[in-house]
Amino acid sequence: MICNNCKKKLSPIDLYCINCGVPSEGYRQQFNIKTIIKESIENSKNQQSSNNFYYIGVTIVLLLIIYLTHFQVISSMFWFNYLFINISMIFLSPLLLMPLASIYTPVAPLPLKKDESKSKTANLTEHKKLSDTKRYYPQLVLFVLILVLYFAVLKLICQGDPILNIVRFILVLWGLSIAFPVPFLIFSINNQKEENKEKISQQNCKNIFYLYKRGYYAGKYLRWHQLTLCLVCGILNLLSILLILVPLPATINFTGNVMYIWHKKQEQFSLYNKDKDY
Ligand SMILES: [Zn+2]
Repeated sequence: MICNNCKKKLSPIDLYCINCGVPSEGYRQQFNIKTIIKESIENSKNQQSSNNFYYIGVTIVLLLIIYLTHFQVISSMFWFNYLFINISMIFLSPLLLMPLASIYTPVAPLPLKKDESKSKTANLTEHKKLSDTKRYYPQLVLFVLILVLYFAVLKLICQGDPILNIVRFILVLWGLSIAFPVPFLIFSINNQKEENKEKISQQNCKNIFYLYKRGYYAGKYLRWHQLTLCLVCGILNLLSILLILVPLPATINFTGNVMYIWHKKQEQFSLYNKDKDY
């Protein structure tokens, strides 16, 4: 592999040219989408299907709210429906993201008691997993809130001309690709060992703008990769909804694994620690 800018010979793990600092071909090789999807499928296979009823239940409530607002069942006022759907999104969609944290921090199975059957213990573990991830809920609400505000501003600005609708569509996708690494950044930063926490102050761990910023710089040369992964996961989950929600728990779990493996890759190349960028 050689640098396109200064023709210096580079090793395959160099993401930047060691001579001139320009991003190298290594980005494309190390962050290969096919590999990430393959690894995510492998990872998902090894995990027990968990929280099935939970995922389906939350999704049904969300779909019901979309139906009520889209067909103006409760009110015929546009802004009432717009507010109603967005506020519901802010508080309900984090419920779907929250359990994905257990991919990051697997919970050890509870010890089996004599009088308990195995399945009961399994259920207990699942329940414990879910309640362990509750602590991420407030930060996930802020995460979705920022996205919703961004979409609302776009809606206000891009009105009238059909061209503006295309601009808005592109900016929505751009926003999603920036937001893509943030949920796992929330999970990981809250789980980092004490020695690492000195570098990232306690305040920054809770600061959602700081996490967006870190994710933004980590994905600086990976926007298209992140957008593609967002689209793959989005389409898969939509298909599950069309297939009367049956495969939904599996596709949500797969989405979590894609985000997790992406996060691991970015962490492996220290993309979150590029101090020069902030
Ligand atoms: Zn170079």
